[in-house]
Amino acid sequence: LKNLVYKFGGSSVRDAKAILRVAKLIAQNNAVKVAVLSATYNTTNRLEWVYSAFEEGDEARAIVRLEEVKHHHQLIFNELCELLALEKDCQNEWQQRLVAETSVPYMHFKRKDSLKTLDFLYSYGEWVSSFLVYFTLHQIPLKRKILWQDAREIILTDDQSQMAEPLLEQMIENAKTIPWLHDDSLILTQGFIGKDPAGETTTLGREGSDYSATLMARLLESSEVTIWTDVRGVASFDPRLIESVLWHDHLSYKEAEFLASGGAKVLFPRTLSPVIDLKIPVIVRSSLETNLGMSCISEQNLKGFALALDNHNPSQLSIIINFDLDKVAFFQPYPEILEMSFDGNYGKLTISSSIALEVTRRIHQDLYSQFNS
Ligand code: ASP
Ligand code: MG
Repeated sequence: LKNLVYKFGGSSVRDAKAILRVAKLIAQNNAVKVAVLSATYNTTNRLEWVYSAFEEGDEARAIVRLEEVKHHHQLIFNELCELLALEKDCQNEWQQRLVAETSVPYMHFKRKDSLKTLDFLYSYGEWVSSFLVYFTLHQIPLKRKILWQDAREIILTDDQSQMAEPLLEQMIENAKTIPWLHDDSLILTQGFIGKDPAGETTTLGREGSDYSATLMARLLESSEVTIWTDVRGVASFDPRLIESVLWHDHLSYKEAEFLASGGAKVLFPRTLSPVIDLKIPVIVRSSLETNLGMSCISEQNLKGFALALDNHNPSQLSIIINFDLDKVAFFQPYPEILEMSFDGNYGKLTISSSIALEVTRRIHQDLYSQFNS
C-alpha cells in the first residue's frame, strides 16, 4: 500500500487556475492518501492585519478586513465555477456551503482571550483554501471517495498560542481510532492548524503546514511526502536572490535541517523531525511546472555545495561544501567574513548584515565556478 502525503503551499493555490492544477495533481495519483492544503497566497498575512485591527480595539475595521479576505475567496470560487463550466444549481449549493463555513470567525471577536482569536483567524485561511480544493475535486472524475476532514481531529498539540508543540504519542494513539485514516478514501485537510487538550484551535508557527504534512506521514507511516511549492526543489541558494544556482536532486535529512535552521526559505525548520526515524523521503517540487525535476530529502548527500542566509544582525551564513576544496585558500579573499568555523563539511560564517547578501552572492558565484571547473 502506497499512502502518499501531498502538501500544497499558498503559491500553489493562489488563484482559480492554480487550484484546478492542484486538484488534477491530486486526482491523477491514486496513491495519494492525504492532501494537506495551506491558505491561499498572502491570506495568512491578511488575517494578521485583521487581527491587528481587532487588537487595537477597532472591531469595525477588523470586520472590513475580514470581509476583504472572504471576498477574495468568493472571487476565486466564482472563477472556478466558470473554469469548470458549472451548472447554476450546483453552483448555488456550493455557494451556500461556502457562506455557511465562512461566517464562523466573527464569533471569535467576542472572546476575551485574544491570542486564541488569532489562532482561530489563522485557521480560517487554511479552512477556506481546503474547501475550494475539495469543491474542485468534486467536479472532476475520481475513482475514490473524497473526504474533507478537519485537521484538528488529527493534529493534537499543547496549548501554546501560535507556536504549539505537537503531542506525537497522543496523535499516534488517536490516529488508530480514526477509521477514515485507514480506509481507501482520499482525505483532504488543512495544514498549520491543530487542537489543544481543551479542544481550542492552535497553530504550529508561520509556514508550519509543511510540518503538518510530515506529521500526517508519520501517523500513516507513509512511503513518501511531497511538498509542492513554487520552486523546483532545493537549490544551492534561494533562486529568487541569485541567477545561476545548482539544483539538488538529493540531500540528506541532516543537510536539509542545517539549511532550514540556517534560514533557507524552502523548508520549515521543524518539518523533518517526524519522518527521520522512519526514513520517509520528503520530495520538494514545483506544482507550477511539474516537468522541471525535484529534490529528494532522504539519506543521500547533496552534490556540490549549498548556502543559507539568516538575515539577522549580524548575518549568519550557513554553508555545506561537499566537494574537494581548500577552504582556507578559498575564503582568504573575503575580509568581510568576521568569523568562520567549520565542522567537517558544515560551516558557519558571520558577516555584517548590511553587506551579507552581496558577499553571499560572491561566495556562491566563486563556489559555483570552482565546483564546475
Ligand atoms: N498559511 C500558513 C502561513 O502562511 C502556514 C503555511 O503556509 O505553511 O504561515
Ligand atoms: Mg511554505
